[in-house]
Amino acid sequence: MAARFYDPDGTRYGLPTYPKNLAPAGLATRTQLRALDLRPGGQEPVAQLMWASGCGGSRDGVRVAYLYWVHLARPVRPMTPARERALARAYLARCTCRDCGEVHDFCLPTSLGRTCPPGLGCAAHTHLAVA
Ligand SMILES: [Zn+2]
Repeated sequence: MAARFYDPDGTRYGLPTYPKNLAPAGLATRTQLRALDLRPGGQEPVAQLMWASGCGGSRDGVRVAYLYWVHLARPVRPMTPARERALARAYLARCTCRDCGEVHDFCLPTSLGRTCPPGLGCAAHTHLAVA
């Protein structure tokens, strides 16, 4: 059964092919790379895993996962300006009081509903704000 997908020379499938769980050392699927915070990084697949899947998906129930060299993989997404801005915005939101909008230089605890902690900002003069 497993021999059906064992084609290390790629004569049958065009790419060196191995049954699932028999991937050669040094190769990893995209999913496995992802678990290591890596991505293929532009390299072409060097081999593939094939296995029969009962849950359908592709034709004949045969599933394929491409294999990439781990040593050629690149770290997942380097920090881009847009990503940096998004993170900064998220951080800013965590430091901003939802009541008065004052921006603190620390993160406001969710236990306070992201409002000023006692003695600071709007919480410093709540006793004045008789609403
Ligand atoms: Zn406030």
